[in-house]
This record gives sequence, structure tokens and C-alpha cells, in this order.
Amino acid sequence: MQKITDIRREFPIFGHYPDLAWLDNAATTQKPRQVLEAERYFYERQNANILRGIYPLAAAATEAFEAVREQTRAFLNARSTAEIIFTGGTTEGINLVAQCFVAGRLQEGDAVLVSILEHHANFVPWQQICRQKKARLLVAPVRRDGSLDLDALAKMMLEHGVRFLAIAHVSNTLGSVNPIAGIIAQAHRHGIPVLVDAAQSAAALPLDVQLLDADFLAFSGHKLFGPTGVGVLYGKQELLEQMPPYRFGGEMIRDVTFERTLFAPLPQKFEAGTPNIAGVMALGAALDFIRNLDREAMHRQVQTLLAYATDELRRIPGLEIVGQASVKAGILSFVLGDVHPHDVATILGEQQICIRAGHHCAQPLMDFMGMPGTARASFAFYNTEIEVERFVKAVNGVRRYF
Ligand code: PMP
Repeated sequence: MQKITDIRREFPIFGHYPDLAWLDNAATTQKPRQVLEAERYFYERQNANILRGIYPLAAAATEAFEAVREQTRAFLNARSTAEIIFTGGTTEGINLVAQCFVAGRLQEGDAVLVSILEHHANFVPWQQICRQKKARLLVAPVRRDGSLDLDALAKMMLEHGVRFLAIAHVSNTLGSVNPIAGIIAQAHRHGIPVLVDAAQSAAALPLDVQLLDADFLAFSGHKLFGPTGVGVLYGKQELLEQMPPYRFGGEMIRDVTFERTLFAPLPQKFEAGTPNIAGVMALGAALDFIRNLDREAMHRQVQTLLAYATDELRRIPGLEIVGQASVKAGILSFVLGDVHPHDVATILGEQQICIRAGHHCAQPLMDFMGMPGTARASFAFYNTEIEVERFVKAVNGVRRYF
């Protein structure tokens, strides 16, 4: 059987830059050849606008586009393709739910519950909606190890007027994996609907929206070996049906007169205008790519790299690992004494070792932890132990330099 790391050859970028150690997979993943080819194939062989044309090319494009919707349904184990909305990414999916579902249900004094682990994409939309509606934003804290404080979260669910919970499956900053199924079940016992931000988990963990009983779930194609500019919002059909459209325009209508508009049924109701058709085709190729991988082996490889890098970094004097939850995805945040994380990332970058530095779009979390930022390495199945060794050696070099 093909070794999981051999699949790295299918990523053209590593051929162009043989020394590239891509350890910024939490920001975006690299793309395999078949994803790049799917986008090109669409423009070369299928290009037509979808849903409108009566001629065969448009019908074929529409069919191929809708086939990706079915693939996505299967990927998430949703009940129906009506529950799969194509978006521009996780951010758009969350904003859609905030504006079209939660805003209409919030009264003055009500509350939306999030956690301190959230990316700004799953924090700012709720903060803004709460401001508009004079509602409260409740923020569940983390424990010292960076895992979500489940007791505090449970208590907050009991507070008066909590109408919604929006929560990450995996923290993009600390890597902590939240026990999302249990959290959803608990929220439902209190009648609280839940949105799962699956931006960091879609590639890392199996997702089954029926098993999780998620009300909404959002992810981005580009963190899943797919293209940028395309993502998915899953929503339970009965909830999506109750919601008003997000944007108005072409493709989302059934009938328009001067006086009124009747909206299209799901999922078109939420897909106004020409979508990123080529992006959706390429997302389909990414989902195919993942389906053909041994996901267990992918997971094991990432966990092996995480454990190896964690052990090695622990030996570096003055280095602190930020986020040591017992269940983590392949995300490793750290601070190196007084050295600014940007300096760490800059020096590593000069050696073609790509890591992220800063607040990771999670400023409330950084404030809570009392630090301005961290350096962060994040792993995918195509990373190797040699890359981890180069990374650790380079971090050691930075320590000696300062
Ligand atoms: N949530 C989390 C946990 C993320 O890591 C990210 C991306 N870093 C987002 C939301 C936003 O994703 P996008 O920028 O693709 O919309």
C-alpha cells in the first residue's frame, strides 16, 4: 500500500520548492494536482453559467455542480442536498447563520454563547449581532491546559435567555479538540441550537452531522486541500426553511414581479448570483482526494508529527508550549522566552520553514492568556519527520541567536 507521505508527490508545490517545509496547514493546505486540474478542466471543457442555460454545455455544468453538492452531502452524511449551501468559506457561513437565523430570534437581554477559543470569524459576527439586538455575548473560558472549561460552559448554558451556541470543533490557535457531540447534546437538552465551526476539523476528523446532531456546521475548502473562495454551510432543512434569504439577486428567486418576489426552494434560496462554479468543481476534486485516502493513516501521521515536535520543543530551554489539552489536532503553538513570535517566524521563513506568528485571529484568547501572540506550527499528513527536525533545529538556532 502507498505510504501516506508518498502522496506528497501529488502536490506540485513541493516539486517546485523541494526545501519547502509547509507547517502552516491551519492557515491553508497545499493543493494536489487533481484539485488544480479540476478547476482548469471546468474552464477548458465545461465553462457555462449554471442553472440558466438550456443548451447542453450549461446543462452539463449544472449537473457537475450539483454532483459536488451530492458529494458534500455524503462527506458530511447530511440527510439531503437541500441542506448543503455553497458559500465563500467558513466566515460567510457563520455570518449567514448570524444574520438569517440568530438575529431574528434575539430579543433585548437574550444571549449568544461562544467560547474564548473562537477564531474572529466565529466571534465578531456574534458580538455585532448582540450589539445590534442589545443582547449579551457569553464567553466560556478555557482551563489552564487550553482545553475548553466544560463545567463553565455547562453553567453558562443555564443562564437566562441563551438562544444560541456557536463553537469551534478544533481551536486554530491551541489545537484543542472540543468534545463537540457531548456539547451539542447538552445544549439541545436546554433547547439551544448549535453552530459548529469546523474550519479546522473538516480535514482532520470525520464529520457526521446526523451523528453530531449539529444544527449548523461551516467549513472552508482551502483548509481541506481544496481551493480558496469556496466553502460549505450545512444546516438542518427545517431550520434553513424557516430562515429568510441571506442575499437577494439572481438564481435565488422563483418568481419576481414589480410588487413581490417568491424565493427559490433550498438550497438555491441562499445562493444568490453566480457562484464560484470552478471553485466548487475543485472542491469536489478535493473531497474525492480525501475519500480515497486512508483517513486513519492521515490522522496517525499528523499525531505522530505533533507528538514528536512537542517532545523536541519541550527540550528547548525557555520555550513554553501554549495549549496542552489532552486531545489535540496537529497544531502546536509556542513562545520562546522574550523572543517575539514574528522574529521566530521570520528567521524560520528565511530557511523555507513556514509557520505562523501572531494572534491567529483569536485576540480575545490571547488577551485571556495574557500574551500578545504565539508562534504556531501546524501539520498535515504530507509533512515529514525530517521537516519537524529542521523546524526544531531552526527554533533552537533562534534561541541561540537571541
Ligand atoms: N474558524 C476557524 C477555527 C479558522 O481556523 C478559520 C480560518 N483560519 C476560520 C474560522 C475562517 O475561515 P475562512 O477564512 O476560510 O473563512
